Amino acid sequence: MTAERQSEERITVDGADVIIIRSARRRRTISGDQVRGVLRLRVPARTSRREIEKHARAFRKRLSARGSGGAGGDHALAERARRLSAEYLDGEAEPASVTWSAQQLRRWGSTTSASRTIRLSSRLKEMPGWVVDSVLVHELAHLIEPGHGPAFVRLVAKYPRTAEADAFLAGVSWAEQHLDAAPTQAHSPS
Ligand SMILES: [Zn+2]
Repeated sequence: MTAERQSEERITVDGADVIIIRSARRRRTISGDQVRGVLRLRVPARTSRREIEKHARAFRKRLSARGSGGAGGDHALAERARRLSAEYLDGEAEPASVTWSAQQLRRWGSTTSASRTIRLSSRLKEMPGWVVDSVLVHELAHLIEPGHGPAFVRLVAKYPRTAEADAFLAGVSWAEQHLDAAPTQAHSPS
């Protein structure tokens, strides 16, 4: 066998499972991703348990900072939308589904009124939670008011950071068009 020698084990860090893949070929870099909500770290074969725990905590912090909180799945997103609707829209916005979409690259969110489905760009996962909330409130408000007229503006203004989030996202779009910014990734530099 000439395949890469690696072993897989599952450990617990701060009460949560972490899959560790030790690779003989890997020298220094450690990379992390998530498999069905479980953190998976690829590490050099000789990495100590203490090092692994340190990296596991750092990766988990980065992943949850992406705004989705914890697993960051569609279920959590739907629950978040329900909470925002109750808090700012008197619960009147009742989406049938709220999901993350990796296809949605040019828009932050979209709402299909007929099916009452909301899709949020996965790119928002890396942004502050209050920005994600603002996009959610915007899309939820479209279930009540399709256009962007005065009634719609009154609805989204109930969320206190609407204007701030709009400015934040406008800044992100501007930077993407004008600067050569590489997208951030949850990987150590290699
Ligand atoms: Zn809109």
